[in-house]
Amino acid sequence: MPSRHAGSDHAAITDRVKVLLPLPLTGAFDYIAGAGRPLGAGDFVRVPLGRRQLVGVVWDPPEDGGGSAGEGDAGAKGAETYALKTVTGLIEAPPLLDLQRRFIRWVAAYTLTPPGAVLRMVMSVPDALEPPKPVTAFAREPGWDAPGGFRMTPARKRVLAVLADGPPRPMDEIVREAGAGSSVVRGLQRAGALRPVHLPPPPPFAAPDWRRAGPKLSPSQAEAAAGLRAAVEKASGDGVDEGAKDGFSVSLLDGVTGSGKTEVYFEAIAKALEMGQNVLVLLPEIALSAQWLDRFESRFGAPPAQWHSELGAKARRTTWRAVAEGKVEVVVGARSALFLPFPDLGLIVVDEEHDPSFKQEDGVLYNARDMAVVRASLGAIPIVLVSATPSLETVTNAKGGRYAHLHLPDRHGGAIMPEVSLIDMRAEGPASGSWLSPTLKEALAGTLAAGEQAMLFLNRRGYAPLTLCRTCGHRLECPDCSAWLVEHRGIGRLACHHCGHSVVLPRCCPSCEDEGAWAACGPGVERLAEEAQALFPGARQAIMASDTLTGPEAAARLVRKVEGHEIDLLIGTQVMAKGHHFPLLTLVGVIDADLGLAGGDLRASERTYQLLAQVAGRAGRAERPGRVLLQTYEPDHPVMRALVSGGRDDFLDAEAEARRASAMPPFGRLAAVILSARDEAEVDRVARELSRRAPGGPEITVLGPAPAPLALLRGRHRRRFLIKAAKGFNIQGALRAWLDAATPPKSVRIQVDIDPYSFM
Ligand code: ADP
Ligand code: ZN
Repeated sequence: MPSRHAGSDHAAITDRVKVLLPLPLTGAFDYIAGAGRPLGAGDFVRVPLGRRQLVGVVWDPPEDGGGSAGEGDAGAKGAETYALKTVTGLIEAPPLLDLQRRFIRWVAAYTLTPPGAVLRMVMSVPDALEPPKPVTAFAREPGWDAPGGFRMTPARKRVLAVLADGPPRPMDEIVREAGAGSSVVRGLQRAGALRPVHLPPPPPFAAPDWRRAGPKLSPSQAEAAAGLRAAVEKASGDGVDEGAKDGFSVSLLDGVTGSGKTEVYFEAIAKALEMGQNVLVLLPEIALSAQWLDRFESRFGAPPAQWHSELGAKARRTTWRAVAEGKVEVVVGARSALFLPFPDLGLIVVDEEHDPSFKQEDGVLYNARDMAVVRASLGAIPIVLVSATPSLETVTNAKGGRYAHLHLPDRHGGAIMPEVSLIDMRAEGPASGSWLSPTLKEALAGTLAAGEQAMLFLNRRGYAPLTLCRTCGHRLECPDCSAWLVEHRGIGRLACHHCGHSVVLPRCCPSCEDEGAWAACGPGVERLAEEAQALFPGARQAIMASDTLTGPEAAARLVRKVEGHEIDLLIGTQVMAKGHHFPLLTLVGVIDADLGLAGGDLRASERTYQLLAQVAGRAGRAERPGRVLLQTYEPDHPVMRALVSGGRDDFLDAEAEARRASAMPPFGRLAAVILSARDEAEVDRVARELSRRAPGGPEITVLGPAPAPLALLRGRHRRRFLIKAAKGFNIQGALRAWLDAATPPKSVRIQVDIDPYSFM
């Protein structure tokens, strides 16, 4: 527990305390502190709630700057209504620091969620609040003599030999080295030959070594690295508490794929470690690849701690606890890592900052990239946003001078950017039932013949996105969602990609009862693989999609196979778009470059550009030059033109102009309110009622209600409002006033999405 916080941050609160529970309730509740040691804000305590015992956090009294998220009065109300109960116990864990509590309040207020829901993300591993168990080891009792009748068996001899003159050793080590069972050790203990010793648990993470030399940087890399190092240094003046520093800064590290951005931000990490600070690196879940971890380890001599959805319960507990105790130097993780209780964070890196997966789309709807900037600002530390295709929001902030802009113009080691060209599918589309144009086929043949690797990109899992009856036109749809069932031929099922519902293909059409009239429409990666296999039977191919890779190990194995040139042709979805560096990969073919442009998504163009530029960036990363072929029906679309010309900045300028003209983000504010209920009439009634009292005025417009594009999701009918407001407008305030006055029945769920990324 970092004791230096005990004075200022941990002032004692007597008799009555507020306790915030990790539940989506209105606010903190009042409790009687009880006897024993005085409680301070941030302490983890056990309290009764109804019949349950829950762990919560002693919350600040409202006059200490609390209450910004509206949690102040709720506690008071609780005090009037119920007789106060008493805190049952104090948990032995480092308290949540003032900074962490302020962050929780900030996120809650911004996203319009109860602070308890944000606390629940912080307390994601309740087990970790229990101190780790000490390890029991055994030592030889000095001067022990075998008593009469004691049989010195060979096994007993071996155990005593293992412990002859070394330090105490834990049971599993003794058992392994002596080749004796644990009962032998216990027997010796009973006879008084060994005595148990409690050792503190070993440190769970080795420290990365910042002294190790990095690669020799090119002049532009060195310049960018110097900028980042200076930012870290400024923030971590010696002996200054995080929060009292004046080192907040945001840098955009902007460089083409393969320009060495990772090497450059490794320099910033090294600096932070040198200054004795913790570092958090956020990566989209799917970019957290074995390759990244290997690179980190070879740079710093030890792997970082990881935090992502595939982490096992034990690793999760160990990591959370070690972070809280300040025993982890570097954590690399997906968005939820932002809510780990770092005591002394000195640097945040958000790699692939444009990635839409930083937005959490259920529970607390937050954007981890944006909240990371807030976290850095509250902690007065630097944050680095990294991308080859930065978001329009970030580029606009850099242009406005709010973010430092660091450029890496060229690929490292003289590798040149791949040549991108378009295949106009209106003129040279393939025959029906086939998805590869003649030009792409020819390019594939050439690449494979030259002993190089190729990649085919199609952002659609499964075999076919639609199955319909040839006789009557009936489409197989999910019963619970407004979505088609996607055929996955590999596992012989059709699945809903929204709720997971799955069925085997029925023999007869449920509508006209005709047998065997099913037609698979459109391609998914499985179908594309089938076509490629028929064309190039000699090529060793593999599919890379989230459903064909069962976990990080399978992904790592496949990546190693590609690296080792055991694969010639890789076919996959966006999971293969990022992070990977395959030197022999020289051809990338994009099957349907227009796929992401359809629909009413505000960022459709921007995202399509980002995704395709990332995919294209896999080609020709080493000595051999790369080519990229994009199959498109819209060769004149600004996205396609920008991809061919490499004119990213012109594209972003045009995109910015269009958004400015319509006052859309980042030049205006946007929020969505989604109502859902099992009963359609009910959801419509509440929507109409809300609509009557919707805020309006020169600075705010409420559009809707309208059925959401996914009008039915998991059996719930959905209606959407879209709220547009001027840039400086307090959209949260207006929404709170509007929605707080509503009294919807429990069956209708109201979800607020500030800065929506999904328009479904
Ligand atoms: P980015 O993150 O911009 O895509 P990387 O940092 O992955 O780029 O660099 C691409 C490749 O070039 C990696 O294999 C990396 O190790 C190598 N590389 C980059 N800069 C250097 C350097 N200065 N010296 C040696 N290798 C480098
Ligand atoms: Zn469904």
